Amino acid sequence: MIVDLVLGNAKAYMEGKIVECSIAVEDGSVFKIGRETNMPRGDVKTDLKGLLVLPGLVDAHVHLRDEGKAYKEDFFTGTAAAAAGGFTTILDMPNNSPTTMSVESLRNRIAAAENSILVNVGFYSAFPDGIGRLQGIVEEGVVGFKLFMAEQVGGLNIHDDDALLEAFETVGKLGSLTAVHAEDELALRRAEEQFKCSGRNDVNAFLKAHSEDVEVKAVNRLLGIDREAGMRLHFCHVSTKNGLDAIVEAKKAGLPVTCEVAPHHLFLSSEDLRRVGTLAVTMPPLRDKVHVEALWDGIRNGSVDIVASDHAPHAFSEKKAENVWDVKVGVPGLETALPLLLTEVKRGRLSIGDVVRLMSERPSEIFRLRGKGVLKSGYDADFTVVDLDRKHRVIAADFRSKAKYSPFDGRVLAGKAVRTVVGGQLVMEDSEILAKPGSGEIVRRA
Ligand SMILES: [Zn+2]
Repeated sequence: MIVDLVLGNAKAYMEGKIVECSIAVEDGSVFKIGRETNMPRGDVKTDLKGLLVLPGLVDAHVHLRDEGKAYKEDFFTGTAAAAAGGFTTILDMPNNSPTTMSVESLRNRIAAAENSILVNVGFYSAFPDGIGRLQGIVEEGVVGFKLFMAEQVGGLNIHDDDALLEAFETVGKLGSLTAVHAEDELALRRAEEQFKCSGRNDVNAFLKAHSEDVEVKAVNRLLGIDREAGMRLHFCHVSTKNGLDAIVEAKKAGLPVTCEVAPHHLFLSSEDLRRVGTLAVTMPPLRDKVHVEALWDGIRNGSVDIVASDHAPHAFSEKKAENVWDVKVGVPGLETALPLLLTEVKRGRLSIGDVVRLMSERPSEIFRLRGKGVLKSGYDADFTVVDLDRKHRVIAADFRSKAKYSPFDGRVLAGKAVRTVVGGQLVMEDSEILAKPGSGEIVRRA
C-alpha cells in the first residue's frame, strides 16, 4: 500500500511521552505511527529531522471577525494567523456583525468561511431570541453558546436569573455547553459612570472599573445558577485569584465546570498595561502580580483546564483612542500564544505534556471535537510541528493577522511552530502559508 504522506524522522508526543517515530497519513487521518522500517511507502515523504510533533493545537477562543468586521480580520487572515501560530483548529466567537445567534446567521457565516479558511474552524452562537430556537442552532453543529455578562449580546436577558436558569437547563438537555465572559455588567457600569463623571478616562480608571469584584461577582452568580441547571459551564479567560478559587471550589463540589486562561493574563500584568497603554487594553484587564501568580499556580496544579488566546483583533486606530472608554478591547494572540508557552518549557516552568494538555487534549475533550487532541491512528492528521530551539523576536508588523501590533512586540521567545499540518495537508512551513484558502474544514459538533 502507498499512503498519502509519511512524516519520517519525527519525535512525537504520545501517551505522555516523546517517542522517535514515523507518521503515515492516509485520507486526512493518521494511518499508522511506528518505526521507520515498518512504515508503508508514501506519495510524499518528509524528513522532519528530529522535530517534535504535537497533536494539532486547538484555540477555543478566537474572534475571527469577517462579515461586517472584515476590516479588523477576515477568515483568511485569521486562519493564516492560526496556522502561523501552530493552531490546526480554532473556535470562533459570535459577537460579529451580524451577531451569530440564529440558524440563519450561523449558516451565512459558515458559507462565508468555507472557501476562505486554512485551518479547521468551529463556531459558537450567542443565545437566540427565545429558548425554543436553541435546538435548531445545536443541530447546526455549534461547539457551544457564548454568554457575555459584561454587556447584552444576543437574545438572553443577562439580568434575569430565571431566564438564565431556563436557558442553561435547555442547553444542558441538548448536550451542549455555555462559555461565559464573567464580568458583572451592573457593577461595571456603575464604576465606569463614576469615573466618567469625575473626568477620569485613563488606563488606571479602566483597571479600577474592571475590578476583581466585577469578575468574582459574575462567577459566583453563574455558579449559583448552574448549581441548579447542571449544564456544562466553561469560564473564558479567568483573570483573578478569587474567581479561580470559586471555580475550583465548584469543581470540587462536582459541578461540570471548566475554565480557561489567556496568555496575556499569564505573561503580562497591570504594570505592562500602564507601560504599553491603550494597546494592551483587554477585558478582563491585565491584573496585579498576585493574580498572575494565582493563575500560574492553577496552570501547574491542573485547576486551569485550557489556555486559549482570546485573539481579538481591531484596527490600530481603534486601539489608540484618546479616551480609554472608547478603546476597543482585546489584542491579537494567535501568533504569540504557543511561543510564549514553549519559552516556559525551555525555562523548565512547564513541560511539553502541560502544553499538549492545555492547548490540545483538554480543549478537544471539553468541546467534544471528535478525532482531535491525540496523536493516534484513526485520529485526524492535524499536527503542530515545533522547534523548541527556535529563538525569535516577536515582530508584530510581520503578523499574518490584520492586527499588526502586540503587547509582546519585541519580546524574545524560545520555540515556535515550524509546520502546521491540517487534515494531512501542509498549511504552514517556516511562517509561509502553503495551502489554498478553503483547505480547513468546518468543525461541527455531532
Ligand atoms: Zn473574547
